[in-house]
Amino acid sequence: MASGLEDVRDALKAISLGQNQLLAAVESVSQRVIELENSRAEERRLLGGSGTDDAKRTVTPLVGGFAPAPSAVLPAEAGSQTPPVSATSSDKSSFSSRVILTTYPKQIGIKALPLEWGAADALQRGPVTVSRVPSTIGRRNAIGAHGGSYSIYYALAFASKELNADHRPDFTNTEPAVNIGPFPQWGDKKKIVAMDPWGHMVPWLFKDVIQKENVDLRPTIAITRAHMKLPELEESVKSGRLVPDGKVCLNQFGELSVTKFAVEPVWYLPGVAERFNIDEGTLRRSLFEHTGGMYPELITRSDIKVFLPPIGGLTVYCFGDPARMSDPSKKLALRIHDECNGSDVFCSDICTCRPYLIFGIEEAVKEAQNGGSGVVIYFRKEGRALGEVTKVRPNSQPVHCPHQELTRTQYLVYNARKRGEDRASDYFKRTENIAGVKDMRFQALMPDILHWLGITKIDRMLSMSNMKHDAIVGQGIPIHERVELPESWIPADSRVEIDAKINAGYFTTGHRMTEEELKAVQGRIWEDVDH
Ligand SMILES: [Zn+2]
Repeated sequence: MASGLEDVRDALKAISLGQNQLLAAVESVSQRVIELENSRAEERRLLGGSGTDDAKRTVTPLVGGFAPAPSAVLPAEAGSQTPPVSATSSDKSSFSSRVILTTYPKQIGIKALPLEWGAADALQRGPVTVSRVPSTIGRRNAIGAHGGSYSIYYALAFASKELNADHRPDFTNTEPAVNIGPFPQWGDKKKIVAMDPWGHMVPWLFKDVIQKENVDLRPTIAITRAHMKLPELEESVKSGRLVPDGKVCLNQFGELSVTKFAVEPVWYLPGVAERFNIDEGTLRRSLFEHTGGMYPELITRSDIKVFLPPIGGLTVYCFGDPARMSDPSKKLALRIHDECNGSDVFCSDICTCRPYLIFGIEEAVKEAQNGGSGVVIYFRKEGRALGEVTKVRPNSQPVHCPHQELTRTQYLVYNARKRGEDRASDYFKRTENIAGVKDMRFQALMPDILHWLGITKIDRMLSMSNMKHDAIVGQGIPIHERVELPESWIPADSRVEIDAKINAGYFTTGHRMTEEELKAVQGRIWEDVDH
């Protein structure tokens, strides 16, 4: 019996070896064909035959010895075939002549650049490498693409030839506007799992890899300085709440000086899975299935642990000297804000998003003027959570955002509320009926940015959200004081939202309403909104 098994194993080994040799042979032949095609095209070009399709076509060689595993490649796409989509010859030129659907760890041509997540030393940690350009595809140690959701626009720019196939960014003078870190937290793979702590230094730290090994690497963090001007802050100055100091608040118009840190999401999958108390396999499978199978390497490359997801990132707005953020002897006021387009930008009055954002900025500025540090962190989560798509049936009525902290079902929920009685006691029920959950903006990954900024405590937390509070404290960052949005900043029609949240556990020093009392809190109903 045992010898029978051994025979089978030997036979499998022989088949596997034979297959590898065959693939290598096929690759070598196709490489030769490509070279011949290229030189023939070049000959024709030199002979003046540039009008022909063949001559215009430049075939990009594949990565040396790179061969897709037969089982993962559709027959029509195997070998040196042109892509199945109808295209003119010149359209094909920006892509290699063969579609690589996925890769495997032991495939010929695969040699991932080492990446040791959580290593304290940047060079030991290694560069996050995700590009699929021919020179880099075999060296990738990350799945996905740069730019989060904007990777799709990148694809469009590339397809429409707005972007050259061989374009590489020139990083001259793009160095971060301020220095930050490194902090001990950067070398702790439990503390930072959703961003690359070295993301702002990539072009300089890994210059050798970029130049000598011709690997396409991009930064995932950018740091700059800016001025910002908000109409409400001019009012703050007029009313005397804010006093221009020429440094943080520049003038009587309430213009502010700010340091901005833009961060793209970079997920270390084992760490992300751990934050949600699930296993990595479940996380990978779910990501694969629910992105329409967009990233097969989530399944085929268990050796790759990093994923750049197609979601929005975040921006840190820091007032005052950025070095004070990580100085435990300086006071820190912080607002964590999740995007709400309807309120943040278009000032709808059904939720408290923009009022709280403005209040957060004003308090942050005051803290910076008092010798401390003021920070507002803006998360682009509108799309990531339940999504604005649930607003699909736009109405002629003015559109408000019904959430802020707890829901993202937006217009569908809004419509359902307004067509009903819009009582605070029903606020969550409406959302849950439609979306199946109250909230999808999990806060578990949010504290990473605080660790990255070197923040070890928060003196004044400008948020009433219990989820944000619990996530931050759960990550070992104490919050000394929680600051409510003052009554006078709450628009009348957003009482439904804020009272429901307070009842559900949001922080307040004021009155927490009972279920009975909530029933009496009612917003405008449809008839009121119509005019
Ligand atoms: Zn809102």
